[in-house]
Amino acid sequence: MEQINAKSIFSPATGFIQRGGFEWTCNPYLGCSFGCTYCYAMFLPQNRRPREDWGKWIQAKGNAVELARKQAPKVADQALYMSSVTDPYLPSERSLHLTRGILEVLIPHQPRLLIQTRGPLVVRDLDLLAQFKCVRVNMSIPTDSEDVRKVYEPKAPPLEKRWDAIAEVRTAGVPVGLCVTPMLPLCDPETFVNRIAAFRPDVLVTQDFHDADGGFGADTGEKARKLLAEGRWSNADYVRCVQGLRERMPVVYEAEAGFFPPGPLPEVGISSL
Ligand code: SF4
Repeated sequence: MEQINAKSIFSPATGFIQRGGFEWTCNPYLGCSFGCTYCYAMFLPQNRRPREDWGKWIQAKGNAVELARKQAPKVADQALYMSSVTDPYLPSERSLHLTRGILEVLIPHQPRLLIQTRGPLVVRDLDLLAQFKCVRVNMSIPTDSEDVRKVYEPKAPPLEKRWDAIAEVRTAGVPVGLCVTPMLPLCDPETFVNRIAAFRPDVLVTQDFHDADGGFGADTGEKARKLLAEGRWSNADYVRCVQGLRERMPVVYEAEAGFFPPGPLPEVGISSL
């Protein structure tokens, strides 16, 4: 892992994050050692390395906390998405404390903060997260199958550890979102749907496989086509799951519509199903 000195730690939001209502993004790291095979971040211009190297490198912004201390006033009371091109709770964060340091200096400025992660390490910072008046932790849990997880997210934390972590976040009184984005093949769709409904996240967002070329969210084009060709998962399976969720949950957001800042929930448009 390389350490770099960044010029800025808060960047103006762009793309679907900006369209969702965020003003700023914050990435303590560049690259992502979770290395999800469908990650949209590898398609973005911020990734100057070959796509096939995605997941094999990260750069830590060694001056992230110092920059945050100087720049935090500009994000005061505004909607901040953390993180858009990395995960704020990578294994390196356990010793580097960059995300934690940024949170500490943000508290007096109270941005409307969304944490987007697959990292159970987020529970370490609950003492800080609980001090934000407007905050939500989104945990990505895209399947119920560890076998599938290992194919698509081989270096990301096991699914049960994510469920445990997001439950702990909620117990601490911090609002929670569940992101089934993209919905990967499921082993037992009915049980998965029931588990989500029983958990009752404050926000639930899901998304089918699609080939966005990095335009929005997870780009699963090649993998999705392979699975579809093998007949192991189809759009009809996804649609059935979303219908099941809609029967059990008050609101199910799909794709881009589900990525909005913490605070009042936006209305959902007419169902796409
Ligand atoms: S955790 Fe997020 S940023 Fe990291 S590889 Fe997976 S989708 Fe990309």
